[in-house]
Amino acid sequence: MAKQLLGKEVTAAINEKIKRKTEELVQKGIQPTLGIIRVGENPSDISYEKGAAKRCETLGVACKKYLLPENVSQEELLSVIDEVNRNDEIHGVLMLRPLPKHLDQAVIENALDSRKDVDCMTDGSMSGVFTGKPIGFPPCTPQACMEILDYYGIDCTGKKAVVVGRSLVVGKPAAMMLLQKNATVTVCHTRTKDMPSVVREADIVIVAAGRAGVIDDTYLRPGQIVIDVGINVGEDGKLCGDVDYTKAEPIVEAITPVPGGVGSVTTSVLVGHVVEAAERTLL
Ligand code: NAP
Repeated sequence: MAKQLLGKEVTAAINEKIKRKTEELVQKGIQPTLGIIRVGENPSDISYEKGAAKRCETLGVACKKYLLPENVSQEELLSVIDEVNRNDEIHGVLMLRPLPKHLDQAVIENALDSRKDVDCMTDGSMSGVFTGKPIGFPPCTPQACMEILDYYGIDCTGKKAVVVGRSLVVGKPAAMMLLQKNATVTVCHTRTKDMPSVVREADIVIVAAGRAGVIDDTYLRPGQIVIDVGINVGEDGKLCGDVDYTKAEPIVEAITPVPGGVGSVTTSVLVGHVVEAAERTLL
């Protein structure tokens, strides 16, 4: 039976650090604050916003919401971004995406000051992930994967790591972060040949394909650490990952469950970025 790598344990450890740092900042007269920009009334955006706001509240981080109508113009949205850029009391900004189609998302994302880019939406932040320079912040989800590896004392040095998925939000930055941790990294995608044998070679597998159960027992072997980033709704209507948990769990050494794995860590990573952005204003 595999060891379960539980998001709640990692989250608890991150939250402790955030609370301590927040208290220190407040004593110095700085109230860490997240600005949330939401356009329209998409239910999944509202649900993510509520989760982030609740986590902020629990950890002593303030939240200021900018709620805009679905038909907001590009100019109006850019002026809100300009306002948060100039507002010294807002340290980090979460803008819920994707934006409605009439808006030029790339232009709007890159209008944010990368010092406040706690969700890695600017090219500046992404360049930081690839160059190792302290520009902006890395994306929260792959960082949550690294936090899980760190918390459970999984050393990546010299290990073979496979990332399934090459999106800019998860797969590619996860590969860079594993490289930073001295793993030897292979990235798989839909054109990869004989993926089961490639994945079986890995000591550490991070799966971010967005396909329920795409990784089953035929891809796995004993001794592997499996981090499942996927969030899907299975045929039974329940949440499930990209890894077939029932088939994987008896084989591998350790695995993150879905729900209860990476997803729960991601929000705390986001709030941690807000606090770090506030700390950077003291430098
Ligand atoms: P995405 O943009 O759709 O990218 C999926 C990637 O997986 C693509 O690179 C695709 O390859 C690859 N892929 C898809 N099916 C594959 C297959 N059968 N074999 C090999 N590679 C395959 O998805 P994403 O935004 O990275 O998200 C991935 C998953 O993570 C989703 O389930 C999403 O809901 C979840 N997610 C979770 C969190 C969290 O906090 N836990 C946050 C963000 C996303 P090609 O490039 O060749 O098409």
